[in-house]
Amino acid sequence: MDKSETIELVKKFSNANGAPGFENEPAKIFDDYCQKFGETSIDTMQNAFCKFNGNTGNRPLVQIDAHEDSVGFIVQAIRPSGLIKFVPLGGVVPTNMPASRVRVRNKNGDYLPGIISTKPPHFMTAAEKGKVPEIADMSIDVGTTSRQQTIEELQIDTGCPIVMDVTCQYYEYNDMFLGKDFDDRIGCAAVVKTLETLQRKKLDVDVIAALSAQEEVGLRGAYVTARKINPDVGIVFEGCPCDDTFEPDWLIQTGMGRGPMLRDMDTSFIANPAFEEFSDQVATKLGIPHTRSVRTGGGVNGAAITYYNGVPTIVIGIPVRYEHTEYNWIKLSDLEDSVKLAVGIIEELNKEILESF
Ligand SMILES: [Zn+2]
Repeated sequence: MDKSETIELVKKFSNANGAPGFENEPAKIFDDYCQKFGETSIDTMQNAFCKFNGNTGNRPLVQIDAHEDSVGFIVQAIRPSGLIKFVPLGGVVPTNMPASRVRVRNKNGDYLPGIISTKPPHFMTAAEKGKVPEIADMSIDVGTTSRQQTIEELQIDTGCPIVMDVTCQYYEYNDMFLGKDFDDRIGCAAVVKTLETLQRKKLDVDVIAALSAQEEVGLRGAYVTARKINPDVGIVFEGCPCDDTFEPDWLIQTGMGRGPMLRDMDTSFIANPAFEEFSDQVATKLGIPHTRSVRTGGGVNGAAITYYNGVPTIVIGIPVRYEHTEYNWIKLSDLEDSVKLAVGIIEELNKEILESF
């Protein structure tokens, strides 16, 4: 995959609509790309699988994971004015939401534009101007003037999913993408690129990759994929939030251009220590810039895979600025370095090394 194909891949995943529970688009993109790498399938939950060509069935099995959903919203009810009352699917804070552009999927499957709206500043009291509104008091305005118009003409009602509305762009001058949902669509792109690179390698392990659904609402898809795959070891690609815009240099653990981040722990997960050290050594040996992180918040699919049989698992974090908001930045070199690291690890894994974890 050359640079322009990689840029195209990242854009496709970023632009895809995939609120938790509604991941058909990213699952289909993965399936289309991966048919040449192995046997693909999509289950009823929209988890998307690729059994790698060349698997023998008698070698240790590596599960490669990324989650395909992204934080979104869902219509709770339509207000008499036609505005939409909504609730979040995943972790968002009200500070980052008003004035964001969104797409609402109507009952016919069409995505229609809307804006997260609050009372205009002209009408706010002095106290309201200094206060962040509650999500319950926000609305999504799809450009209608009555409840009837929203429900009957636009076919939008309770249960319709909502995603951010951003078109991904790549900028050559800083090697960066500005787009939406890089948590974890950049991980999805990394899985595809890893499978593509592994085709040219000689391996001592079997590989099954899966994009998992519903991570943002509690790692639900990965609990299912791990049970279905029954792996011996897990590698999770996750778009991880950058801290390089507000932490002092000595405390930056995920930053633009600093390469993959190996996550030691967060509130859901502790990486298998031996696998973590092994992965760090592979990165150092291959000259890949990388960081380690210990987080006091967050959660990752690594937890769901570990909970299945105690499978030794690591998380390769790809730095994302401002995730869980409308716009995110990522750097192409961080994607490339993360793929290099995963490929390097998988190339070196064998039965003996696995037994040492
Ligand atoms: Zn994520």
